[in-house]
Parts: sequence; C-alpha cells; structure tokens
Amino acid sequence: MTSPEKSPFARRMTNRIMVGKVPVGGDSPITVQSMTVTKTADVEGTLQQIYALAAAGCDIVRCTCNEIEAAEGLAQIVPRSPIPIIADIHHQYKMALAAMEAGVHGLRLNPGNIRKPEHIKIVASEARDRGLPIRIGVNGGSLDPELYDKYGGKVTPEAMVESAQREMAYFDEVGFEQIKISVKASSVPLMVEAYRQLSEVTRHPLHLGVTEAGPPPAGLVKATAGIATLLMEGIGDTIRYSLTADPVEEARAGRQLLEALGLRERKNVDLIACPSCGRAEIDVIDVAKRAMDAFGERQLPLQVAVMGCVVNGPGEAREADLGIAAGNKRGHLFVKGRNVAVVPESEMVEALVEWAEFIHEHGAEAAIARADTARAEREAAKDRSQLLDEKGDDANHAQEKIVEIRRTTQG
Ligand code: SF4
Repeated sequence: MTSPEKSPFARRMTNRIMVGKVPVGGDSPITVQSMTVTKTADVEGTLQQIYALAAAGCDIVRCTCNEIEAAEGLAQIVPRSPIPIIADIHHQYKMALAAMEAGVHGLRLNPGNIRKPEHIKIVASEARDRGLPIRIGVNGGSLDPELYDKYGGKVTPEAMVESAQREMAYFDEVGFEQIKISVKASSVPLMVEAYRQLSEVTRHPLHLGVTEAGPPPAGLVKATAGIATLLMEGIGDTIRYSLTADPVEEARAGRQLLEALGLRERKNVDLIACPSCGRAEIDVIDVAKRAMDAFGERQLPLQVAVMGCVVNGPGEAREADLGIAAGNKRGHLFVKGRNVAVVPESEMVEALVEWAEFIHEHGAEAAIARADTARAEREAAKDRSQLLDEKGDDANHAQEKIVEIRRTTQG
C-alpha cells in the first residue's frame, strides 16, 4: 500500500499553511475539498451535508457566506463540523469579516469580484491577526474586466496569473502570508497552463480545479483530465471536483483520484473488474455493480476483482487481494491468485464481502490458511477444463473469422 507521506511524483515544494487542523502544502497529504449546496442559514441541513461529505473523504468544506443570515448560520455550524470550514466570499468584503467573526477556519476571495484594494487589505489584516488562511480564487469566468481587456479581450493563462499576483501584492503590503491560490477555468488546457505558469512564480500552496466541469460523466472526465495532469507534474496541494451533482460525488471522486494516483492511502475497496468479453460466464457489469453497492462505504482498504470467466480471470487479477471469477454457474474465489473456495453463482457477492472482511481483519495469509485450497483448486481446475472442452480456447471464434477473411481477400 502506498504511504500517504511519500508522493510517487516529484512534488514542487510549497509553503505549508493550516486550515483549522488540516495542513495544506509542503509535504502534507494532498487534501480533498467540496462545497455545500444548502443555504448556509439552514444550519441542520448544512451540517447533515457536511457529515456526508466527510464520510465520503472530504477533508475541508466550503460554505457560501453571501448574506448576514449565512454568517449567523456559520457561527452555529463551525463548532459542530467534523472538518474545517472555509467561507466563500464574493462581492461583499463585509461578509468576509462576518465569517471570521463566526469562527470559520479560512476564506476564499475572488479577486474578480472584490476589487477595491482597501477592502482587500482590511480583510487580509483581519485574517493575519486571527491567523486564518485565505485562498485567492481566480476564476476564468469572472476575471477582472481590466485584465480581460489588457489581454486582448480573452481569458489567458497570463491574465489569470496576473490577477492572482495583483491580489498577492495587496496581501504582501499588510504582511499576510497564509495564502493558497487557485486559477480555475472550465477549459482544461487553459487551467493546466495557468497552474503551470503560476507554480513557476509562487511557493504558496495551490488549490486545483476545473470550474463548472458540468454533470458526470463528462464533468468527471474533464475534472480528472485537468487535476490529474497537474498532480502528475507535482503541481497541486489540495483539489476540488466542481460537478453539477450531489457534492458527495465530488468528494468521492476527489478521494478516488488521489487513491488511484497513490497520493492518499486507500480507505475503501478498490474494485477492479474485467471489461467482459465473449468468454464471460456472468453479467460482469451487474455483478460488479452489486459488489460495489455491497461494499458501499465499508472501510475495507483492499483491491477486489470481479472477473467474468475462470479461464483467464484469476490470472489477470493475480495481484488483487481477493477476487471472484465466474464459471459453470459457480464463482471461484481467489486470494492473491490462490483458489480458496467455489460458491454458487447466486452467493458470489455475499461471499466476496465475507472474505474481504476476514482478510481485512486477519490478513491474506490467514484467509489462505483457513481455506481448503487443495479442494478449491481441484474444483476450479475441473470447471476450467470443462469450459475449455465446451468452448475451446477460441470462444469468440476468431480462428473461423481469420479463415473467412483470408478466403475472401485471397479469392
Ligand atoms: S476475464 Fe474472462 S470474461 Fe473477463 S475479459 Fe478476460 S477473458 Fe473475457
């Protein structure tokens, strides 16, 4: 299992800041963020969403603070939240002051929307005195009109970086350093280039995101393309998927991306499944989905494989902690590539969950030791050879097709 402390990619060094108890930047683990979609004044509704987000892997959550009722809501939400809260501020700098009074752990300011230097400096001075961080959240869609004009009426990476730098200069003037920056755009190439350029000119930690990525699956693809590209270049300290979906999906996606890249330790099952083919003995899509639902949010940090046939499945998923392959109306369970049991097809998913829990508690060696592997291997070999006898090595009839292709092209 990958250690969360060691990034598999050479990471660009940034300053470390604290968002409540969560470190961001430096060599701290890359964190997942999301944003509530409830009215912040709805204290119970917002807290319910925050708890769901935290359970899905969210480390830091942002709530809008757009009116005085929202700031008052934050005063009640912050002490009961399991994760740090950042107040999202647009337009009204006084809402930033109110949110700090409410006890939030940080702020996000959009430089395109709060442009009066004196207002920015008042907010930064207050945050400095309270020891709170601020994210400079540049957004391609709401760039300062002056910068937009300066760069030829276009949103360019240079314009976005300059917007962040202007804001940083105001912060510098009042000696404020607890800064985090984002330069998000809905275009993946634009945001990737903006972050690359930004990482060359600052050591402040960077918050990555593709803004307004849209609904899944296209939104997931876009956000992953942008965020993963940068993470693999060592750029980025905290991430957010901006999806038009339940924010729990954002948190889950963020967490899964970091786990897939080996940047965070696995918390839940990593389900791998074959794409299925003509050899499949079961509906792989259905079994994989039922297995995913059965594992749900159970904290079993194992790799579990669902494979459509016993001829190739166990070999292809040899590295998985646990797997099941279908054959002759039976499921062949294997642990680290060793056959441990053969169960009826209808019990495949339950058996997977039971063995996964056993492995998590006692380890793979104990699971192999408790099994009658000799018997399971005998049963498995029987099914395999029966299937090969019935279908041969060529379930897709490739040989017949090749003969036909040769006949028609040579004729
Ligand atoms: S495991 Fe079997 S069914 Fe699945 S893709 Fe491989 S050969 Fe096809």
